[in-house]
Amino acid sequence: MGRPSLRVVIPTIGRPSLSALLDSLEASAGPLPDAVVVVDDRPGPPHALDLGLRDAQWAALITVRRSGGRGPAAARNSGWLDNGHPCRQEWIAFLDDDVLVDHRWLSDLAEDLRASDAGVGGSQGEISVPLPTDRRPTDWERGTAGLAASSWITADMAYRTTALTAVGGFDERFPRAFREDADLALRVEDAGWSLARGTRRATHPVRPAPWNASLRQQRGNADDVLMAQLHGRHWRLRAHAPRGRRRTHLATAAAGAGALGALGARRYWAAAALGCAWAASTARFAWVRIAPGPRTRDEVAAMAATSVAIPFAASGHWLLGMWRHRDASAWSGRVPPPPPVAVFVDRDGTIVHDVPYNGDPDKVRPIHDALAALGRLRAAGIAVGVITNQSGIARGILSREQVQAVNDRVEQMLGPFDVWLVCPHGPDDGCSCRKPLPGMVLDGARKLGVRPEQCAVIGDIDADISAAAAAGAIGILVPNGATRPEEIANAGLLARTLDEAVDLLIGAA
Ligand SMILES: [Mg+2]
Ligand SMILES: [Zn+2]
Repeated sequence: MGRPSLRVVIPTIGRPSLSALLDSLEASAGPLPDAVVVVDDRPGPPHALDLGLRDAQWAALITVRRSGGRGPAAARNSGWLDNGHPCRQEWIAFLDDDVLVDHRWLSDLAEDLRASDAGVGGSQGEISVPLPTDRRPTDWERGTAGLAASSWITADMAYRTTALTAVGGFDERFPRAFREDADLALRVEDAGWSLARGTRRATHPVRPAPWNASLRQQRGNADDVLMAQLHGRHWRLRAHAPRGRRRTHLATAAAGAGALGALGARRYWAAAALGCAWAASTARFAWVRIAPGPRTRDEVAAMAATSVAIPFAASGHWLLGMWRHRDASAWSGRVPPPPPVAVFVDRDGTIVHDVPYNGDPDKVRPIHDALAALGRLRAAGIAVGVITNQSGIARGILSREQVQAVNDRVEQMLGPFDVWLVCPHGPDDGCSCRKPLPGMVLDGARKLGVRPEQCAVIGDIDADISAAAAAGAIGILVPNGATRPEEIANAGLLARTLDEAVDLLIGAA
């Protein structure tokens, strides 16, 4: 059994761990991905990227792009878009450049994707962080392990390309590898997909970090402000993100600043009281970080120093975030919807004037702009098909031959059409093709070898639009005198003429 087409995207800042990751990918058993895109996000002039030694097959799969130091969100967008448009592969597996995949990762991933039905927009791999066994983990090691336990992290997360397209990809206002993954996951869920936990495994070794790494991490407080702004106060619950210590940090920093202020104003008792409050809360914070750790001299010194600075840094970055993101609105994305690869048009009332139960080719009269509008679609390389309900056959009003004769006339006047689909059934026949059911859209897509979500339907009544929606295709209503007002009110996309409908799909001529 095959698996859906797959692209692996790895953003990197040139860490040596990249070639180790590629080694682990190459050693992993399972079907090869269709493409591997490594996105070099180092700023400045190009430096050679160390991809390690690859065998010929893997070397041919890998391409390298540059994203100019705009952060992992932007780098990942560069990886799944080709010239600004969604790539052809159905799934994108994002890996961070500091993980190592398991020896069965490719086959387990194939299984995870096969098991994901159409409603699943993303699949999370299982990440483990190996901690030292001979001593207690440091604050930094525990922090890395905690990150790996969170949900929907892009260290190993695969997304359906249609889901990424629908939400516009990663929000590039998140400048570092923090919260940009949770933000994307919440938006994909908001758009109606579910997220699944897969079975594939990867490990995330703890990187060596400088003693003050925890201080630098406080910049994430600004990203948390953006999350609250975009997803509401309860975003942490949905993202399974533990509540941080921000409130405590604010109180500690306020006490510290207050003590200094009081000292400057020569109010020594107030300064002493605030100073004690600050010292007590700083000491408590330091102890909480030191107690579970290895308590070596270096670790204790680093924890003591950073525990003094962190409340101030956290509060500062939080305030900065409040200012920077004060007007933040929903990410509209940088991905233009791709033009459809196939368009299905309704016949009666859409491309020809509606003559109820018409069996006479001589009564076929095209809508005035139909030939020109269909010609624009064909010139853009888009397949064009017709989907039409002809219940006159089931009702005994029309013969199949009469319907065929009328269709031949339409083909002669407005063709060539790439595919014709006719439902001969009545409303009570229980068929799966009669619009508003999606049968003809799904059949037409299959006959053309395209996916329904790459298709659009143009019609004059709600049944056409509902058939499109049920198939996952775009629907555009072009009302005529017979279209009911509530059908017009409910239409998502509305055009006055066929030509305008084509404008919506491929841009104005
Ligand atoms: Mg119609
Ligand atoms: Zn039918």
